Amino acid sequence: MLVVMKRGATPEETDAVVRAIEQKGCVARPIAGGERVAVCVLHNEGPMDASFFLQFPAVKEAIPVTRPYKLVSRESQARDTTVDVSGVRIGGAHLTIMAGPCAIESKIQALTIARIVREAGAQIFRGGAFKPRTSPYAFQGLGEDGLKILAEVRRETGMPVVTEAIDHEVFDLVEQYADIVQIGARNMQNFSLLRRAGKSVKPVLLKRGLAATLDEWLMAAEYIMEGGNDKVILCERGVRTFASHSRNTLDLSAIPVVRQESHLPVIVDPSHAAGFRDQVIPLSRAAVAVGCHGLVVEVHHDPETALSDGPQSLYPGQFASLCRQIGPIFDVCKASTDGRLENGVVSKYV
Ligand code: PEP
Ligand code: MN
Repeated sequence: MLVVMKRGATPEETDAVVRAIEQKGCVARPIAGGERVAVCVLHNEGPMDASFFLQFPAVKEAIPVTRPYKLVSRESQARDTTVDVSGVRIGGAHLTIMAGPCAIESKIQALTIARIVREAGAQIFRGGAFKPRTSPYAFQGLGEDGLKILAEVRRETGMPVVTEAIDHEVFDLVEQYADIVQIGARNMQNFSLLRRAGKSVKPVLLKRGLAATLDEWLMAAEYIMEGGNDKVILCERGVRTFASHSRNTLDLSAIPVVRQESHLPVIVDPSHAAGFRDQVIPLSRAAVAVGCHGLVVEVHHDPETALSDGPQSLYPGQFASLCRQIGPIFDVCKASTDGRLENGVVSKYV
């Protein structure tokens, strides 16, 4: 149930609704909108009676939320969420590019790549310090030393940084250094990690699991929002199929559907989807064309020596070309989308 307050309702009037919801044994979550506040009812068992809320004079309407992912759903928030990361905006009418190596390997490697991607147009630097690797013998990342390098990159380039917390154990540490905490595909349904992310004050980049349905992905985001963190960025990174011509299959059709279902920003990782660098630029163009809010791309100044994911890492020149190509595509899509916005709400597939 979403209890929509009248325009100009006072905080006291909203509080009265919150208390009434809590007296029913439910959780009330106020959502600030552009013009009015709405209160989302969580943890109710069974349907609620809308007429109960209409007794409050400051309540405009009470609308049932039909989706199981209540806070994530457009039913509870019609307008796009925009996440602000140190002045860089993700979501809404913004196209945000995150780029960097798969893994932080050294200070010189990270800084070299950071300067290259910033020059080309990236706004956020990516790089793993804790790496989830298929083989226990593969490079596992530099750990806290990698996080310290990320902090230096931020200091020297001014770019916010995104890096992965691979488990509950390292979350506190990663949270101290990262501007955005990444939850990787393999952890999309690690519910204790999602709950921890829900308690974080940092934005969370939630990757879609390798075999996750859209409902499962959105429910994973709901765990984070239910915990109190509304700064969630979704990331489509390809799913496992029978294809062998690519590492995974980028599910482009997920983008317009997720944008219709949810107000959260959704970005695309073409690198882990493709697995091969020559597919990354075409997939990036396609991802922007279907309406994503940004990309996270692996780039390396010397991919042949990269300690992880060299074959899918773009050369600097390729990344610069990608950045030049996607801007005009985004502008065309934005122009066509604006015409279909009704009160800021995407009416059907963007
Ligand atoms: C990554 O982005 O570094 C990564 C490991 O991605 P994913 O979780 O999508 O495989
Ligand atoms: Mn990688």
